[in-house]
Amino acid sequence: MRRLHALVISQQVHRCNSKSQCHKSGQCSKRYPKPYCEQTYFDGLNVVYRRRHLDNGGNTVLIHSGDRVVRISNADIVPYNIFTLLDLENHHDLEVINSATAIGYILKYEYKGCDKSYIAITKAREGDNTIVDYDEPKAFRLV
Ligand SMILES: [Zn+2]
Repeated sequence: MRRLHALVISQQVHRCNSKSQCHKSGQCSKRYPKPYCEQTYFDGLNVVYRRRHLDNGGNTVLIHSGDRVVRISNADIVPYNIFTLLDLENHHDLEVINSATAIGYILKYEYKGCDKSYIAITKAREGDNTIVDYDEPKAFRLV
């Protein structure tokens, strides 16, 4: 249980501020922090997940964020699957989706392709400290 708690704190907390990518028009576009809720339900558009308030069995934790200490609560936790989190030890967002835009979102990853890197190989001579000046943007233009 301690391992799961540590993984949730390290992998599943949505932290953002006004400079974060998710902030648009002065608020989090992912709608964090989420509202507290006693049980999971469907509101007609989205699934609202159970997030217990501190007064009702919820939890808060102090974490370091840069040079500050921030209090996080269940409202800041991204939905996860216990088994996936324990197995992969990695961030994931497990939510019910029910709109046509979800299809585009899923296909985006299918056609995104694999990660690529460009490297330059040069022949080194003993005692040669030549710095390779590799123009990565130029390499992209050639592809
Ligand atoms: Zn955010």
